[in-house]
Amino acid sequence: MTENAFDQALLDLPDQDRRTIRPPQYDGATPPVQQALAAISSTDVMTAGINTTPVGLRLNPAVPEARAAWYSFGFLVRRAAAVRLDVAEDELELGVQPVVDFSSPFSPPSARVFISDSLENGAGYSTRLGEPADFEELLLFMLGQLTGPDAARSRAFFDPFVDSVHERECATSCHRCLREYGNMAYHPLLDWRLALDMARLALDPAARMDLTSGCWAPLMARTAGPFFQGLNLVQTSLGGLATGMNASTNEAVILIHPLWDRDPANMRPELAAAFAAAERKGLQPVAYSIFRAVRFPYEYKVE
Ligand SMILES: [Zn+2]
Repeated sequence: MTENAFDQALLDLPDQDRRTIRPPQYDGATPPVQQALAAISSTDVMTAGINTTPVGLRLNPAVPEARAAWYSFGFLVRRAAAVRLDVAEDELELGVQPVVDFSSPFSPPSARVFISDSLENGAGYSTRLGEPADFEELLLFMLGQLTGPDAARSRAFFDPFVDSVHERECATSCHRCLREYGNMAYHPLLDWRLALDMARLALDPAARMDLTSGCWAPLMARTAGPFFQGLNLVQTSLGGLATGMNASTNEAVILIHPLWDRDPANMRPELAAAFAAAERKGLQPVAYSIFRAVRFPYEYKVE
């Protein structure tokens, strides 16, 4: 037995029963034994990553925004795969695994999603998904871009995400897009806009990643004004990026795409330009992602 398990079992009992249970007595002469338990099953696994992180982006899963992107992408892949294979989502298990490329010491950590059949010696779904041509089709399917006989199903999968009502009502994720009972632990991280961005990035390393295009533009238009007002910042634009100026701290809060790197050595040109413009005005630039702005608008503290 373990003490944790004992305590947990106690919590499951009604109060009056709990009082009748005596705590376990230990044999003080014998040292405790530390053990780990594992359930090992054998099944197929499909993994998918992004081999080369484009300049200016950060896909390191240690960063909350990037971790959110990987999980959001994974759950979207799983949902699309379940639709394509005509199986229940829980027949596919999903995980995210950090990846460090030891062959290239300066490449930053990244991650990959892995999908396995949930049944032991599963039905081979993951093996099929792992065929490069099939996976590419799956990505196109997710983005509503599949042509041929499944073109209509592909549109039917993608269109509800970008539908104007959903777009307006869902700044992060909801039960209509990425949330379901089985991924409850990840609900605060999930973001359908990031999931679609990752799918676009997986297909094309040159895919446009900014806040002025696609499904980010309307979210930015609605969010930036109230975000800056709520913090009592004066809204302006630096290097073309929405910025809030704090007269008392001399800070310039610049709203950025969740996957943009804040490291000066790997900044996108528009972010570097915004930083330079802030400094020319004697302001201290602070990059804050739209991902945080919609979830934790007051985490950026105004002193
Ligand atoms: Zn939603």
